[in-house]
Amino acid sequence: MSRQILFTDLDGTLLDLDTYSPEQSLPAIKRLQEQEIPIIFCSSKTRAEQIDLRNELEINDPFIVENGSAIFIPKGYFRSIPMDYCLKEDHIVIELGKSASDILDTIREYRSKFPLDCMGYEDLSLPEIMQITGLDELGAQEASSRDYSETFIKGNFDNIDFHHFSLAMELRGLACVRGSKYVTIMGKYADKGKAVSVLRELFEANWGTKVITAAVGDSGNDIPMLAAVEQPFLVKKPSGLWHEMKVDNLLRIDSIGPIGWDKVAIEHLLADLSVSS
Ligand SMILES: [Mg+2]
Repeated sequence: MSRQILFTDLDGTLLDLDTYSPEQSLPAIKRLQEQEIPIIFCSSKTRAEQIDLRNELEINDPFIVENGSAIFIPKGYFRSIPMDYCLKEDHIVIELGKSASDILDTIREYRSKFPLDCMGYEDLSLPEIMQITGLDELGAQEASSRDYSETFIKGNFDNIDFHHFSLAMELRGLACVRGSKYVTIMGKYADKGKAVSVLRELFEANWGTKVITAAVGDSGNDIPMLAAVEQPFLVKKPSGLWHEMKVDNLLRIDSIGPIGWDKVAIEHLLADLSVSS
């Protein structure tokens, strides 16, 4: 006897990359919930952003914020958590990354000595963030309230200055991770894959059964998550192409973003269940 859990990226995967709408995926989410398959967000988005989306979609499972920097578990979700954790409001938090204040200090120190044309939430006003991201005021505020990372949402990420910046951050224990649109600067020892492995252990320990893990992603920052699960799925970018990556057993879904997400849920996870039952 085994049970399934699903990890999912948000931007460009569960959510449309331009409208951020989850509408497309609502019926499939309900069907997964009927089968008691936990849906674990695993995204570069912040706690505030993910909590809003969980409320909207009526999802009450644990979630992974800021690219694997921390795992949030609703109080009472698991009977036991045999590892270090802290408490934040209604959640048990397992922290794997560095604090945002340490990360911002390191970026400021670098900026004072070297040129860097990239701007993060910390450098931009709320109207500027709204204009660049297309988020409304609340969404922009929530995206800016970061606990474990900074994200550059403006600038050139392909020039030599940025390459030098990435190397300097690496030497200071940080990593620059590319998502669907932006670059997140975070603790280099945290990633989506480590967070997935920690949660898998917690599910197995608490359920007392083997857990089969699946994950859906669309871009480079999803590689550690996809490599950490038994059933990795990659959806297409709006360009109609898949992000180039090498991951064992990766199944490339022939549809873009949330349409691909639906296919994973209905044609693979739910179809597999009806075959095995
Ligand atoms: Mg994405």
